[in-house]
Amino acid sequence: MSLDSFYASPHPADAAGATLAEVAAAAAGCELCKLSTGRTQVVFGVGRPDADLLFVGEGPGEQEDLKGEPFVGRAGQLLTQLIEGIGLTRDDVYIANVVKCRPPGNRDPHPDEIEACAPWLDRQLALIRPSVIVTLGNFATKLLLDTKEGITKLRGKEFAFARAGIDAALLPTLHPSAVLRSGGKALAESRSDFVRVKRALARDRPALPSS
Ligand code: URA
Repeated sequence: MSLDSFYASPHPADAAGATLAEVAAAAAGCELCKLSTGRTQVVFGVGRPDADLLFVGEGPGEQEDLKGEPFVGRAGQLLTQLIEGIGLTRDDVYIANVVKCRPPGNRDPHPDEIEACAPWLDRQLALIRPSVIVTLGNFATKLLLDTKEGITKLRGKEFAFARAGIDAALLPTLHPSAVLRSGGKALAESRSDFVRVKRALARDRPALPSS
């Protein structure tokens, strides 16, 4: 397919049905970029289909590719701890990635792969309708904030996200893999970012007044 006809043709995500399960089923056969040739399976996302809190990572690694679920390796264990640290479980949230297929050798996803995959994430956002989005690392942050600014400048801040028909608070934080590599200070920064996430969730979904 030429690049011109690629951009002229509708993306399969746009015609993939009205529920997350239907969109996931359509994504399972996606062959829009070269990552499809090396994957074991598409890693679409996991969690509550109506979660208030959505995490967006970079792309599946080896273990995620084998299991079909995002963030199940070492970085995933740290993400799970950070989620539990704010009183939630993985079942309370939704976890997705910028690209749904494993980049070979865990290399960075290429711009054409991110572009081809982005409409699947847009459908996830539009159907889940989270009130708080946490971008994990540079790739998710740059994609969703449409910025070239790096994560170290953007983490710890909060942005308004209005796209895919939703209005949400977007809080960038360090990628758990980067935290595992850097340790100490990075872990403290992650924890403080998650406290902000907890506050944003409480603010966007106030508890019912007691009678
Ligand atoms: N890193 C990511 O960005 N996503 C995963 O699913 C696993 C590791």
